[in-house]
Amino acid sequence: MIYRHWTLAPWDAERWPNFSRIEFACKHCGEFYYDEDYFDSLQAARTLVGRPFNNNSGHRCWRHNMAVGGSPASQHKKIATDISLKGHDKRKLISAVKLFGFTGTGYYNTFLHIDKGRKRFWYGAGARETWSK
Ligand SMILES: [Zn+2]
Repeated sequence: MIYRHWTLAPWDAERWPNFSRIEFACKHCGEFYYDEDYFDSLQAARTLVGRPFNNNSGHRCWRHNMAVGGSPASQHKKIATDISLKGHDKRKLISAVKLFGFTGTGYYNTFLHIDKGRKRFWYGAGARETWSK
């Protein structure tokens, strides 16, 4: 469900202790995509990994998605997470997100994109080598 602004959306801080609404909100207008199943999976993966998920991008409204050159079909128009790789063991991270049902994975040099869209994966420019190590 989409909320016009993240401050209007419900949030259960006990259920998702390591995340907050604002980090998933559209950076341009604050629009928020509420998906309990998504937050549960993300929290479960975060708990298993035991390290912060530095979330660089969550939801984008269609305007913002267009402005940043996102694909028209981007899962960021719903919700997706770009986890900074800093301080993470890449293998642990990837196995945790797969275990909790993230089906879309984009491998980049500095972050891992995850979403619950169609099962697929891709590599960002030059990232194949980063992820082969
Ligand atoms: Zn926006």
